Amino acid sequence: MKIKNVVIGASIVTIITLSIFAIGSLLGNKSSDSDFSQKTTQSSEKNSESSGENESNTNTSKDDWKLILVNKKNVLDYEVSFNQVSMTEGKSIIVDERIEEALQSYVDGAKSAGYDIQYVSGYRSRADQQVVYNTSLQQNIANGLSKKQAEEATESLINPPGASEHMTGLAVDIAGSDALAAYPQLEGDMDKYESQQWLIKHAQDYGFILRYPKDPKSIEQTMIDYESWHFRYVGKDIAKYITEKGITLEEYLDKLLNKEQ
Ligand SMILES: [Zn+2]
Repeated sequence: MKIKNVVIGASIVTIITLSIFAIGSLLGNKSSDSDFSQKTTQSSEKNSESSGENESNTNTSKDDWKLILVNKKNVLDYEVSFNQVSMTEGKSIIVDERIEEALQSYVDGAKSAGYDIQYVSGYRSRADQQVVYNTSLQQNIANGLSKKQAEEATESLINPPGASEHMTGLAVDIAGSDALAAYPQLEGDMDKYESQQWLIKHAQDYGFILRYPKDPKSIEQTMIDYESWHFRYVGKDIAKYITEKGITLEEYLDKLLNKEQ
C-alpha cells in the first residue's frame, strides 16, 4: 500500500503515536541511531536509483543525497525535505520515495526466502525526535532526577533532535517477525534469528548497509552500539563496497573526502 506525499505533523495524533513508538523502540538501546548531518535539503532533484547509475567508489561525491551523514558529531538543525512515501509491512512507515523500489525489493527478497519480516521504524522528523526527547526528560525529572541528571539519563538512550539518521528518510529499522517477538525493544541479539541474519546478509544486494555493526572499531566510528535491525540506503554499489570492505559510512565518507581534496 502506498500513499504518496504524506504530510507528517498534520496530525497531533500521529506525532504522539510516533513518539510513543519511538520511545518504546529506543528505550533499552544505548544511544540508538544517533548522528548528525550535512546538507540534504534539495533532495528532490532527479536521481534515478534503479538502473544504469554509476555509483562506483571512484565516481561518487560526498554531496550525493544518498550519502548524507547524520551522527552525534553531525547534528542537523533543519528538517530534511524529500518526497515522502508510506510503505507497509506489518506496520506502516514513511521513507524517501527514492528508496521505495529498493526497499520493496528487499522485503520481497526476504519473503521469497521464506521469512516473515516487518518494518519497525522509518522516517522520524526532527520534531518527532524532540517530542521523544522531551517526554523522556520530563519522565526522568518526575522520577526525581535533577535537570542535569535527567538530561544525562535521557541522552544515554535517546538521540537529541537532529542527531538521528531516521530524519533522513533513508534509514529503516526492519526485523524478522520472530526476532521482534522475542526482542520487542530491539536488541543486537535479535541477530540469532535466521530472519534477521538474512536481512543483514542481503542488505547490500538491495542497496542497504547494516549501519551500526558490532565490532569495536565500527562502534567507535559510528558512536552507536550494535544495531542488528537498522539499515541505511546508500545505493547498491556503495553498499557492496562498504560491506565487502567491512567499513562504516563514516569511514567511507572520510576516504571519499580525502580523495576529493
Ligand atoms: Zn534505527
